[in-house]
Amino acid sequence: MKISGLHWTPYRLPFAGAFGTAQANLRVREGFIIRLDTDSGLTGLGEAAPLPEFGGGYPADVERWLAGWALEITGQPLANIEPLVAGLLAKGGPGAAATAFSLETAAFDVLAQAANLPLSQWLATNLINSPDHSATKTVPVNATIGQPQQQAASEAARQAVAAGFRCVKLKVGMAATVAGEVARVGAVRQAIGPLVKLRLDANGGWTVPQAVETLKALEQFDLELVEQPVAPVDLAGMARVRREVTIPLAADEPVTSLEAARAIIRAESADCLVIKPMVVGGLRVGLEIMELARAAGLGCFVTTTIDSGVGIAAALHLAANLLEPIPYCGLATASLLTGTLVKQVPLVEGGRMAVPRKPGLGMELL
Ligand SMILES: [Mg+2]
Repeated sequence: MKISGLHWTPYRLPFAGAFGTAQANLRVREGFIIRLDTDSGLTGLGEAAPLPEFGGGYPADVERWLAGWALEITGQPLANIEPLVAGLLAKGGPGAAATAFSLETAAFDVLAQAANLPLSQWLATNLINSPDHSATKTVPVNATIGQPQQQAASEAARQAVAAGFRCVKLKVGMAATVAGEVARVGAVRQAIGPLVKLRLDANGGWTVPQAVETLKALEQFDLELVEQPVAPVDLAGMARVRREVTIPLAADEPVTSLEAARAIIRAESADCLVIKPMVVGGLRVGLEIMELARAAGLGCFVTTTIDSGVGIAAALHLAANLLEPIPYCGLATASLLTGTLVKQVPLVEGGRMAVPRKPGLGMELL
């Protein structure tokens, strides 16, 4: 099968409401939907939407890579995408991971369609040699709450539970004082009741002493875990926090590659790894990090970077390859944006997301 064309369309999706993180208030997601055409008539989709607020590069970086390759790869065998993606990841730089993810997803979408398998199952069969493993048809997901105001956050959390979510993730690290943080987290815990899991995400917003003080004060709220309490570069500091507090820690922002995941494990910084295929550079690397975490005895789960339906679906197919019982994944992010760009975004019902069963990625653009 040969590549007959590579096309990219820019998109811009504003957030549906206020979305705060310790690093930035996010207002809009911008990126590209990639279409890879082949001489078989099959077409693959991918998404490249780096997060500039988190150091992932800009859409213009992605466009430079794509424009550089569009002519070069046309006419080449589809299989040549893989060395191209590997080369891009080895080179690195702004936008590289997002671009690699988009090209790889589009290529795998075509290959899975050609094999008449949903992408989740194609990954299980071809990349990890465990074809049964993705018999999973739904993945448990968390609701994500980014409203900075305490009352709005509690109300959103209450609505999430009413909609069937059994795990709520609250963005923290925005309060001016420890007391403010305790009040907001406490209000959300109260809103969701004692049985729903509550996890926090500080997006690296605390110093080591702040993280220790704040998390000790928050231990009373029966927290499932906290993502990235301290700066992503400070693996030793995160390990110190981990020794001081009882809440399990998940590393997120520093999980940028297989090698980076190894460094986190070596530094004993985390109990759990957050895998974002669009940040680590694709589904293959995502599966490798899953295996690495399993072998090291760490937990892991998959999240989006708040993407369109194309990126969400790719992450969902990856998450379907997590070992049972699958932990809550951060995939229910479609409602955070004003649109999804696809005809049928994977449904969330009873706090679980249905993995598309059509061959390939299973997404059709609007
Ligand atoms: Mg996070």
